[in-house]
Amino acid sequence: MVKCEHCGAETKHPVTKIIDGKPLNFCCGGCLQVYEFLRAEGLLDQVKAEEAAEEKKRKP
Ligand SMILES: [Zn+2]
Repeated sequence: MVKCEHCGAETKHPVTKIIDGKPLNFCCGGCLQVYEFLRAEGLLDQVKAEEAAEEKKRKP
């Protein structure tokens, strides 16, 4: 099982794409597209930062 790089879902049949020289796994083509879009727009770090902030809010 591998984890989807975008949504974190585990899948046996990932869609793999080499991004920045690293093979990244996605659960479906949709996640790959969203990931590439966010990356192209430079939003990837922003999304990750927001997710990290959300995590902190949830955990006391
Ligand atoms: Zn996914």
